[in-house]
This record gives sequence, C-alpha cells and structure tokens, in this order.
Amino acid sequence: RNQGIGSWPARRSRSTPQATALVYGGRTTTYAALHARVTALAHALRARGIDPGDRVAYLGPNHPAFVETMFATHALGAIFVPLNFRLAAPEVAYMLDDSGASLLVHAPENADAVAALEAYAGARIALGAPGAGDEAYEDLLASSGADDDPSRVPAVDVPVAASDPALILYTSGTTGRPKGAVLTHDNLLANAINLLVDVDVATDEVTLVGAPLFHVAALDQTLIPTILKGGTCVIMPTWDVDACFDLIAEHRVTWMFGVSAMFAGLAQSPRWSGADLSSIRTVMSGGAPVPESLIRTYQERGLTFCQGYGMTETAPGATFLRPEQSIAKAGTAGTPCFFVDVRVVDADGADVAPGVPGEVLVAGANVTPGYWNRPDATAAAFTDGWLRTGDVATVDDDGYLTIVDRVKDMFISGGENVYPAEVEAVLFAHDGVAEAAVIGVPDERWGEVGAAYVVARPGARLDVDDLRAFARTRLAGYKVPAHWHLVDDLPRTGSGKVRKPDLRTMTDDPR
Ligand code: ATP
Ligand code: MG
Repeated sequence: RNQGIGSWPARRSRSTPQATALVYGGRTTTYAALHARVTALAHALRARGIDPGDRVAYLGPNHPAFVETMFATHALGAIFVPLNFRLAAPEVAYMLDDSGASLLVHAPENADAVAALEAYAGARIALGAPGAGDEAYEDLLASSGADDDPSRVPAVDVPVAASDPALILYTSGTTGRPKGAVLTHDNLLANAINLLVDVDVATDEVTLVGAPLFHVAALDQTLIPTILKGGTCVIMPTWDVDACFDLIAEHRVTWMFGVSAMFAGLAQSPRWSGADLSSIRTVMSGGAPVPESLIRTYQERGLTFCQGYGMTETAPGATFLRPEQSIAKAGTAGTPCFFVDVRVVDADGADVAPGVPGEVLVAGANVTPGYWNRPDATAAAFTDGWLRTGDVATVDDDGYLTIVDRVKDMFISGGENVYPAEVEAVLFAHDGVAEAAVIGVPDERWGEVGAAYVVARPGARLDVDDLRAFARTRLAGYKVPAHWHLVDDLPRTGSGKVRKPDLRTMTDDPR
C-alpha cells in the first residue's frame, strides 16, 4: 500500500472528484483529473527507470506540472527534489549532482541553464518545446494514457512507507551553501496536521500559492494542507504584486502565505487602499522577521495576520501565532505547534528564564532525519535528539516565542550583544524606508559595529543624518549603525530573504 502523500490525489479523487484542485491562468484541474494525470505520469516515469528511492528533480516556476511531478514521484516511492529556478547553471548542477537525480523536469524559463549542464546524464523532460535530449512533458502524459478520467488509467501499485523520504529540500542558502534536508512522508503529514490544528483550512479554501513552491513554506505550509483538505490552490507562476491583487479578486482567495517582503510589497502598492480583499480570511507569514508595523497595517485593514516560525528542517512549522492571539501577541512567533516540542537554551544547554535570549531547539515528528549526503552537518545539527536551529529567541511569561535573530548574525559591539533584526525593525518603521538590513563589521575601537544597508521607498529621499537621528531616539547607542549605505536593492535568496554574506561585498559610497 502507498501510505505516503503520493496516495493523496487518489484518496481525494474518491471523495471530492469534481472539486477544483488547481487553478493556473485559465486552466483548472479537478481532483479526478489530477489523480488521472499523476497516475499517467507515474507510469511514464516508471517506464524511464524511476524506482523507489530514486531522485526526481524539478526546475521551474510554480506550475501545475510541479504538483503533478511531485505526486507522480511519490506514487513511485521516489524522492522529489524541487530546485530554485533562479539559480545559475553551476548551482543547479551542484544540486543535481548532490541529490543524484536521475530525472529532471524543467521549464522553458530554465532552458539555458539546462543546456549548460555538462555533467548531468539523467533523463530530461521539458515542459515547453523540447531541446536536444529532452522529451516533451505533455507527449509523455499522452503516451501513457493521460485522460481526465482516472478510471481509464491503471493504478500504480508501489508500496510506500510513511517513514520513507519524500523530499530533498535545499535550504534557502541565507547563511551559506544550501543543504539538502531530507523530509519523510511522516514529516510532511505531521506538519500538515500541526497546521490544521491551528488554522481552520476548509474544504472550500481558496489558497493563493504565490511564494515559490521549491521553498518549504509554499509547498508544505499551503499547497500540501490545502490538497489534504480538498481545497483549491490558485497557482501564481512567480511573485507579482499586481497579479496578486488580480488573482485575489478574480478567484475570491481566502488564504495566502507570504514572506515579509511580499506583504510589504502589497501594502506599499498604490492599489493597496482600493483593492477588494474582502474574501481573505487569513494571511500567514514566516521564514523571516516581520516588522510589527507591517502586521498592524494588515490588522488595520481588517485582515487576520498569523505568523509562524520554522525552517526547512522542521517541514517547516515549529511555532505558530494563532489567529485569536494575533493582535494581543503581534510580533511574536506564537507558541510551539501542537505536536512540536521547543526549548530555548543558553550556551550550557539549560533552559533560559523569560525574556533572556537563547538558542531554539526543536523536536517532533516533523523534524528531518538529517541532511542528504552530509553526515557531518547532520551530526552537528542535533544535540540529544533535539534539532539545533541556530536561531535566537526569547520566551515571555505566557510561553510565546519572539525570534530575535540568527546566532550567526548577532555581533558584539563594545561587549554588548547586538541583534541586527531589532535594528532593522526600527529602520523599517521610518516612513522613507522600503527595506533595511544590518550586519556587524570589524571596528578597531568597539570590536564590531553595525553597518546598515537601506533602500528608499519609491519617491522618498533618504538622508543619513536623519536616519541616524531616527535610530538614536529608538535604540541604545551601541545598537545604532556606525556605517550607512543607501542602496537600490538588497541581495535576496530565491525565497526572498536577505543574503547577508553578500552585503559584505556590496559596494557603494559608505558615509
Ligand atoms: P540556510 O539554512 O541555507 O542558511 P535559511 O536558514 O534561510 O538558509 P530556511 O530553512 O528557508 O533557510 O529558513 C529558516 C530560517 O528562517 C530560520 O532558521 C530562521 O532564521 C528564519 N525564520 C523563519 N521564520 C521566522 C520568523 N517568523 N521570524 C524570524 N525568522 C524566521
Ligand atoms: Mg537554515
């Protein structure tokens, strides 16, 4: 029996065959059609040699084929490896090689990167016009009997255990080279259940999938739970503020996930005040700090704003701020998810007192068994069965966590710990600031001092003296950045986070 998530389209097709599973552009896919297409694709992949445990990679923007390829891979007990479609050929080559993928499905947007792959020798399937060495995705489906009627496609009968690996998901690469976190079917199910305990995802949910599906948040935190409940996923190929407003209005979207930068983009758009957002029940953010001022902007618009904290390695939910607490505890990352245990510990491994920063440790059925091919990194990531997150948090008297920053990003100025995220939140509250990032840089006198990189809002003119004065009235002196850089953009990862190591090599006129 297939006890993994590859069986979900079939199970859904039994109960809600005619409900809409996916919407993409003008195309809709019912659960029955999804099941039929997934089954046909699984037969085709099997005919191309995909056996249980093999790796199938996907390279492309969000698209129904991503969902079909994932479930077809899982129907065969194979491991799905979604790749960041913005990566350059050498980065893609690294992940294909590291994961040992023997089949790659790729989108037209990535044709150049795929053509430049030299060492990759596996099968290649093109979503668009096939190049040399490619087979065409739709031809493959047609040849193995794709039809919107599942009763005409023979079942795939591969036993899959819930403890089998389902995904190799590369981390965002915010702090270094991405690592391939293995997530099992059990990990994904545990995360989906944790989410459903806290958010009432409904059978008539219309979920906007606007964040990239190669990242854990969009995939595990929106698409998978929506499919489990039989709701509809409205798939946006790549993030776009105007398209987001259009899709919300056209499909009466009820729920969406985004990182802070996406929500800031919506709120800063000229369309924000006039947009019809009346269908939306909940918006959910995670993956990076969210300035409290931004949360308030959404709440003032009448929207429920939930925040989660987690990481690729925890599939991803570790803590969650439930809608009922989203006003009273705004700015915190909530309490541990239902089946997750969380500790915040000092350097000696002892639990910290309320308000004292410590490192977050996580345990639960959602936690990765380890990194692919990286026994050293796996061993370093666990202590006594707890996953070390590398994140610093405080816990309040009610047990709510506030994520302070990453251990790696903290710096020490004149003997005092500075958490850049706190400084960034202050800068973000300045009217003229669109984005801000702070890092610690060496300083002869203080050991380290802050360097701020600030992007102005469209039409705003920023003045460094004014920014410094603004920060001085809101922060202790040692936290106020000593160096200021006004820049046009911040370097970001594919999942929208600021890539801090890259700031160090950015040039402009420091003032
Ligand atoms: P890499 O591990 O490759 O350096 P990454 O850690 O950014 O990249 P992800 O797994 O996408 O890769 O992100 C997890 C991290 O995101 C967490 O460890 C934490 O630092 C940050 N994060 C997640 N949620 C929140 C949140 N609500 N508030 C602040 N930071 C968050
Ligand atoms: Mg990480």
